[in-house]
Amino acid sequence: MAGIYIHIPFCNSKCAYCGFYSIPSQKRKAEFLEALKQEMVSRKDYLHGEAVETIYFGGGTPSILKVKEIENLLGLIQEYYSVEANAEITLEANPDTLSMEYLQGLRAIGINRLSIGIQSFFDDDLRYLSRRHDAGHARQCIQLAKDAGFDNISIDLIYGLPTSNADQWSRNLDLFFELEIPHLSAYALTLEPNSILTKQIEMGKVLPINEEDAVRDYEVLCRRAAENGYLHYEISNFCKPRKHSRHNSSYWFCIPYAGFGPSAHSFDGTSRQWNVASLERYGESEREALSPEQIYDEYVMLRLRTLWGIDLKYMKREMGERFSDYCERQAEPLIAEGRLSRTREFLYLNDEQMLFADGVAEALFY
Ligand code: SF4
Repeated sequence: MAGIYIHIPFCNSKCAYCGFYSIPSQKRKAEFLEALKQEMVSRKDYLHGEAVETIYFGGGTPSILKVKEIENLLGLIQEYYSVEANAEITLEANPDTLSMEYLQGLRAIGINRLSIGIQSFFDDDLRYLSRRHDAGHARQCIQLAKDAGFDNISIDLIYGLPTSNADQWSRNLDLFFELEIPHLSAYALTLEPNSILTKQIEMGKVLPINEEDAVRDYEVLCRRAAENGYLHYEISNFCKPRKHSRHNSSYWFCIPYAGFGPSAHSFDGTSRQWNVASLERYGESEREALSPEQIYDEYVMLRLRTLWGIDLKYMKREMGERFSDYCERQAEPLIAEGRLSRTREFLYLNDEQMLFADGVAEALFY
């Protein structure tokens, strides 16, 4: 089992809060696509012929590409990798790039899952984030995607916005539930170093963010998602039964994946490598072989973010008693403090504890 990630580093403009590697110009698109194809071919043995179960076009704005360009990339992947017949093929899309013709084109070439960057159904939030679409467009494009035949749709929403409040956030969620979208990724607004928003806040040009708003909204999110039949399967991800993101789940289950494009990361089971986050320096990458301690830390960090939690039996079998005993010992005070929960074989975080996953993981690190 394996996955493929392709990073498309172009956007129509730069959103104020963005921390992803992307540039607001498509001048170098043709040159990039050629280099991307070369990378895919030259690293064809990275996954050792493993069956590819998921392909994910992320960015940036992958929906900036023409259907034909995406089709060519998929064709190349089919040619050089062993793609499963029922592979999940996701494309991240922004509302301002979607039309019926485009969506039908995506369906025709085999894209079977869409992840749409909605962020909010309210204009004041969207303006604060400097998104290109408005609230009306957000709703319309979801309907368009459904009419084009997409039934596996995810949207992104952002909470903890200073332009919002508990009531508005709850109404955002009402719209999500009304539209019967099977998957939600919801993220707290964070200040990325060097983002436009960080600078705007420092200069006092826009409202600052307040971490307590995010905690409040997260509680509303967890409660309302459960009431509406959504499974909270990862700290930021909620789904209807069997509609979880197979691609992202493979990250949490430590399944190998190859990442192509600037800033993309790859993992082969024992080492990580990542491409430099620069179009100019595309082709340069760094690699790190993971020590047993790093593999343990990574497992703890990734699995604590999920519904499944840490499997102590798996840990003992795959990493040895040294690590499973250590993990159990470190967990004891956290369980006593109510920061971590336990069944016989699993250590996990319940809904309210999940927002603090990183702090708990740190306490368990080797
Ligand atoms: S669309 Fe996404 S990747 Fe592009 S600038 Fe906005 S947040 Fe960043």
